[in-house]
Amino acid sequence: MKKQTAAIHTGFQREDAYGSLAMPVYHTAAYEFTNAADMIESFCGRSDSPDYSRVMNPTVTFFENKVKSLTGANDVIAFTSGMAAISNTLMALSGAGKNVVTSRHVFGNTYALFSRTLSRFGVEARFVDLINLEEVKKAVDENTCCIFFESLTNPQMEVADVKALSEIAHKAGAALVEDTTMIPFTEFSAKELGVDIEVVSSTKYISGGATTIGGLVIDYGTIEGFSARMRFEMLLNMGAYMTPHVAYMQALGLENLDARYRLQSSNALELARRLREIPEIKEVNYVGLEDNPFHEISKRQYGPTFGGMITFELSDREACFNFINSLKLIKRATNLFDNKTLAIHPASTIFGPFTDDERKAMDVLDTTIRISVGLEDVDDLVADIRQALRHEP
Ligand SMILES: *Cc1c(COP(=O)(O)O)cnc(C)c1O
Repeated sequence: MKKQTAAIHTGFQREDAYGSLAMPVYHTAAYEFTNAADMIESFCGRSDSPDYSRVMNPTVTFFENKVKSLTGANDVIAFTSGMAAISNTLMALSGAGKNVVTSRHVFGNTYALFSRTLSRFGVEARFVDLINLEEVKKAVDENTCCIFFESLTNPQMEVADVKALSEIAHKAGAALVEDTTMIPFTEFSAKELGVDIEVVSSTKYISGGATTIGGLVIDYGTIEGFSARMRFEMLLNMGAYMTPHVAYMQALGLENLDARYRLQSSNALELARRLREIPEIKEVNYVGLEDNPFHEISKRQYGPTFGGMITFELSDREACFNFINSLKLIKRATNLFDNKTLAIHPASTIFGPFTDDERKAMDVLDTTIRISVGLEDVDDLVADIRQALRHEP
C-alpha cells in the first residue's frame, strides 16, 4: 500500500464483533483473561493481549500500527504528549554520567528538560551548534548516549545535515534521536537518513486541527533493546501512555494529514511571498523560499514541501505587541498546525520564563513574530496582517 492508502486502510488487530468501520474507543482500564496461562503470556509481554491500559490499549495500538505502517518502523509507542515522548526516550537512553549532545535551538521545554531536569539526575547536556559539524565531533565522546536535534528548529528555522550527524553519532556508538514534529513522517524517511529514534509531538500536524495532546516514539530497531525498555520499563514505571480517546482522535487526524499538510504548505509559501512585499516587515523567514539558506538541504532531506510555519521580523518588541493586539482574524495563541492561523511573539511567551542571557544564547529575538499558517484563504490572512501592521481600528 502507498502511504496515503495505508493512512486510511491499516487494519484492526482483531476483527470487530459488529463490523465497525471506525476503530472503537476501548474505554477500559483492564482486560479479562480466560485462564492463568494466558495471563502469564500477557503480563510477561509474550502475547498481544492487553492486560492493563497503562501499557497497552487496543485503540492506542491501532493508532501505533497506523504510524508503523506509514514509517516502516520496528515499533511505535504513543505517549500522552510530545514532552512525554521526549522525556521517556531520554530517560531510557541516558543515565548518571552520560551526556547528550544537542543544540540550544530546540523547543523551549526540551531545552528546560536538558538544562533543569535531566541535569539533576547527573545527565549532562552539551549544547553545540549542530550546523558546525567540527563542533559536534568535538563534543561527542564515549559517554555520549545520543545526539538529539530537531528537523526544523523553531523559531530559528535551522535545518541540520542528518546523514552527517548520523555518521558522527554512530562512530561514537551513540544513538541519533530526531524530533520531527515540524515535518510529518509521511513526507520523508528518517530511517534512510540514518535516524535511530524519531520523536514527534502528535499534538501538532497529526492531531487534525489541534484536537488533542499526544506524542510518538518511532523506533527503527537499530538500538539494542530500546523498544523493550520503553514498553517494559518506561510505560510501566513512568505511566505516560496515550489514552484511548486521544488515540481515536489522532488516528482520524492521520487519515487527512496529507491533504491538510499540502494545503498548509502551499498557503505558507504564498503567504511568505506576499509578506515580503509589505514594507513594515523587515525580513520573512520560511524555508520554502528559494533564497533561504536552508532551502536546498531541507528539500534534499525532507522533500519539496516546507510546512506551515513562518516567522518574520518587525522593528521592535512594541511593534510586535501592537501587531499581535490588532489581529482580528488570526488567533493569538501558541500551538502549531491548527486548521486556524495562529500568531505568537515567542520571546515573551514560550521563551518568557528564560533569562535574557538564555534567550540570547537560543537566538530567540524580541523582534520575531511566529505564524502557524492554517487552512484559510490566503487573501484573508494577508488582509488581516496588513491591517494589524497599520493598527487600523
Ligand atoms: C510542541 C512541541 C513539542 C512538545 O509537544 P507537546 O505535545 O506540546 O508536549 C516538542 N517538540 C517540538 C518541536 C514541538 O513543536
